[in-house]
Amino acid sequence: MSEVRTVALPNGTLVPALGQGTWRMAEDRGKRSTEIAALRRGLELGLTLVDTAEMYAEGAAEELVGEALRGHRDEVFLVSKVLPTHAGARDVARACHDSMSRLETEHIDLYLLHWRGAVPLEETVDAFERLQQAGSIGAWGVSNLDTDDLAQLPDGALPQTDQVLYNLSRRGPEYDLLPRLRELSVPTMAYAPVEQGRILREPALRSVADAHGATPAQVALAWVLRGGDTIAIPKAGTAAHVEENRKALDLRLTADDLAALDVAFPPPSRKQPLEML
Ligand code: NAP
Repeated sequence: MSEVRTVALPNGTLVPALGQGTWRMAEDRGKRSTEIAALRRGLELGLTLVDTAEMYAEGAAEELVGEALRGHRDEVFLVSKVLPTHAGARDVARACHDSMSRLETEHIDLYLLHWRGAVPLEETVDAFERLQQAGSIGAWGVSNLDTDDLAQLPDGALPQTDQVLYNLSRRGPEYDLLPRLRELSVPTMAYAPVEQGRILREPALRSVADAHGATPAQVALAWVLRGGDTIAIPKAGTAAHVEENRKALDLRLTADDLAALDVAFPPPSRKQPLEML
């Protein structure tokens, strides 16, 4: 197995290209120990970027992550997100400290605005910068911001990532969002990289997978990661899925594979508004 590739954030921090998502974890008590074991298996395999949010299971996903990371916090690049309703000057610090408390940590490595709401971006960025100065967060970023939203960030404010819906069946961001992020040297963090499982039965994906002795999920992940400057954060609720996904880092898609996938999942020919899940 190769080393886990890294991607550089604008501030120079190197993070693993493949991380672990946590949406829908902690929703079923019966799955708790399996989910914790899955996250820990991911850490053993080098998938040390963990993505969560105050929204997920109304805080219970952060609590589950906190438990999974006991004794491992220093190995992990921890990402969490503030709800737009908590993104105002008076609320961000409290939301962040509540997240830290659930996560059993003294700091969050990367804190994202989950999506754009009614609070002016400038106000949220200002609050993030104060949290950063206080050491509560290592850096800040955004999520679900389209190209025109990025242009409305305050002058000189550069997010460390934009976490967006991007996978074979959601290629809209390729039109102008991904190129803009590349210009800014801001890596994209692709969420739902396997489209929550919905694309895994597509014949084109299956046929590329078969040619490599791989699985459709591995091909879907290798495709998202193909450019070298994108981070993918699949959610895997079992250690078996984590192990399968880790192997996507060793899969190199050929030009023929990419061409076949382009036929089944065409790239955008015009601007499509950024989709959200
Ligand atoms: P996803 O990662 O595309 O899909 C997760 C689903 O795929 C789960 O049902 C999982 O099943 C299944 N899966 C994972 N690995 C698999 C494999 N090897 N073979 C077959 N099935 C597999 O979707 P997502 O959870 O929505 O997105 C990933 C993460 O991105 C989230 O968990 C969250 O952290 C983040 N996210 C962010 C936003 C945002 O607005 N910023 C929105 C959505 C998601 P099992 O659980 O059974 O393994």
